[in-house]
Amino acid sequence: MRGKREVIRLTGDVPSPANPPSGCRFRTRCWKAQDRCAEEVPQLEVRLGDHPSACHFAEERPHVVS
Ligand code: SF4
Repeated sequence: MRGKREVIRLTGDVPSPANPPSGCRFRTRCWKAQDRCAEEVPQLEVRLGDHPSACHFAEERPHVVS
């Protein structure tokens, strides 16, 4: 059984690796970024089941198997 996938289109410019943004390096392109993202680097953690993520606001999503 196949689940529906949500397509997330990123906007914004990819930051320069020579001058990365503070905090989370993805924050300039992240639709969920908040003030905390500019201040703290998120640590890679296994928060939800067996899927590690490095995000202050990771949330559980259904697994899609194709
Ligand atoms: S920590 Fe999570 S919510 Fe914040 S910018 Fe990074 S990926 Fe986005």
